Amino acid sequence: MIEFEDVTKVYPGGNTALENVNLHIDKGEFVFVLGHSGAGKSTFLKLILREEKATSGRVLIDGKDLGRMKEREVPYLRRRMGVVFQDFRLIPTMTVYDNVAFAMRVTNIAEDKIRKRVPYVLGLVGLAQKSDRLPEELSGGEQQRVALARALVHSPQLIIADEPTGNIDPELSLEMMELLSAINSVGITVVVVTHEHELAYRFSKRIITIDHGAVVGDAVNKQGVKG
Ligand code: ADP
Repeated sequence: MIEFEDVTKVYPGGNTALENVNLHIDKGEFVFVLGHSGAGKSTFLKLILREEKATSGRVLIDGKDLGRMKEREVPYLRRRMGVVFQDFRLIPTMTVYDNVAFAMRVTNIAEDKIRKRVPYVLGLVGLAQKSDRLPEELSGGEQQRVALARALVHSPQLIIADEPTGNIDPELSLEMMELLSAINSVGITVVVVTHEHELAYRFSKRIITIDHGAVVGDAVNKQGVKG
């Protein structure tokens, strides 16, 4: 589903963010992408979302070379991926329901479909009872679950969680990981991007470690074994 073939990304000005990266993430996998600040994690995400293009090498999603993708195809690519951003990016003046519905309205989906889908995805993340609340009336963990519900609204094949522990406390971050595991168990690929070594090594999942723009580790963690 995600393939990096010898990908190098050099930003204008000469910063090399990724260098000769090769990796392959299959459909249905649950993967951590782990690295310190500046390692190249955001660049990895931006390449997948086609917010940036590789300087050399190829990034492929479902076999499609993003470097050759036409601009008008990019929104469709992004709709197949659900991203939960570290800062949630909810609209503060909209209720929970409308935050999720908005993601559907902007793609011109009929209101009757929205009325069915929004309560369904809010139910998946355990927020059916809070659909009339404003984001500020929710805890950090709940806001993150709204962001996850919104990410699920277009039935994506891939969910990307960017630093999911960044703005919530440790207990809630475990809850979030459980939700992501549940989502993964129905066949959705999950990629969790984090700088938190502790979080990644708590689970028996594949961990791709990047450092200074290079993949320096790629292995399934055996639970309980600290890397
Ligand atoms: P991380 O998300 O792991 O912190 P980034 O992908 O943001 O890492 O950054 C990797 C490297 O690329 C860093 O050295 C950073 O300074 C550089 N970088 C990131 N974005 C840009 C940009 N837009 N222009 C120039 N350099 C950048």
